[in-house]
Amino acid sequence: MEGNVEQNKRRRVVYVASETLAKVSSRLPSNKNRSLLVHALVTSLGLTRSTESGASIAVLRPSPATQKDLAVYHDREYVQFLLDPASAEGTEDMQSVEFGLEDDCPPFKGMREYVQAVAGASLAAACALAEDQCDVAVCWDGGRHHAHKSHASGFCYVNDCVLALLALKHAPAPAPSRKPRIMYLDLDLHFCDAVAAAFHAPASSSSSPPQVLTLSLHHAARGFFPSSPLAMLSEPHTDPFTLALPLLAGATNATFARVWTGVIERVRGAFDPDYVVVQCGCDGLAGDPCGVWNWAVGGEGGMGWCVTQVLGWGCKTLLLGGGGYNSPNAARAWAYLTSVTRGDALALDTQIPDHGAFPLYAPSFTLDVPPGNVRDENTEEYLTHVEGVFEGVVQEIVDRLGR
Ligand SMILES: [Zn+2]
Repeated sequence: MEGNVEQNKRRRVVYVASETLAKVSSRLPSNKNRSLLVHALVTSLGLTRSTESGASIAVLRPSPATQKDLAVYHDREYVQFLLDPASAEGTEDMQSVEFGLEDDCPPFKGMREYVQAVAGASLAAACALAEDQCDVAVCWDGGRHHAHKSHASGFCYVNDCVLALLALKHAPAPAPSRKPRIMYLDLDLHFCDAVAAAFHAPASSSSSPPQVLTLSLHHAARGFFPSSPLAMLSEPHTDPFTLALPLLAGATNATFARVWTGVIERVRGAFDPDYVVVQCGCDGLAGDPCGVWNWAVGGEGGMGWCVTQVLGWGCKTLLLGGGGYNSPNAARAWAYLTSVTRGDALALDTQIPDHGAFPLYAPSFTLDVPPGNVRDENTEEYLTHVEGVFEGVVQEIVDRLGR
């Protein structure tokens, strides 16, 4: 335990934020003003100030991503369209439909600035890790895991997750004999379809293993967004580096704690990553309008516990945001996780400080996002089946890596 405290004290944390980023990011139609709320709570809790125990977080002000930065993943035509000020006007022409700018991804005023700011934020975080300026980087404006190469989808216009992963592939290797390995862990309620597709490679076992492993915990059911064959429970012999762990409705802390030991720790052990990118979407928390899972921020198996486990791996870690449609709860969760990165987690009954957004935290006015009363449908039988399947997957990973 003491060792952990020492390790936490020495952990260098970078928090990506600026007034411009919060303002621009708050224009996203699906999460209006959420970014302002998150950063205001983190600041009012004093989380970016040094503590008596020596923990501190350096605030990193990001620059907007350039057209060239975006084109590392996205198609050039799509990037040009996103960055054309005329596209935000929302004329329903063929091109905006082709690029997915309709329905849940409408064109919006400030879209160009939004895309550049959010991609720039996650890239700044990834670069800070790659350049060894920090051990943990936090970018709550990132985590837009549904944006595809050439079209917007599911409230996501730019895939900062993929851009960050691609940047980390070129980070210095821990040993000259091997390229850096990056594990992407997605805790959002929805499957990370575009991230999985970007790295999915059903290669023959003779080809060299990939540098990126994606593992998504999500809800999957008929008609539940996004529909993707990759969202179904992984099979050992398809691609052991593009992994899906669907959880049924009502998933609680107990279910997360169970799969953490039975699946996530085993996959991590087999893959042995140097970098970990965690998408901390909080639409699976109790109280989210999605109303599918029953996950909590605190307690064993809670979101804070999961992130604490990841930090315990000792890899360089990037924490990204994601979904979360109860904005005060998203702010609570991410502020709490920010305190976790400092090795100095706040108490869950911490009072929300008096600041501009204070009334939005009624009626509890505390940091906690407790579980609700929904029944957990992840039965013993289902979880045992999942563990059995992943036993095969883990063996495949070990075989492919020749370990
Ligand atoms: Zn989501």
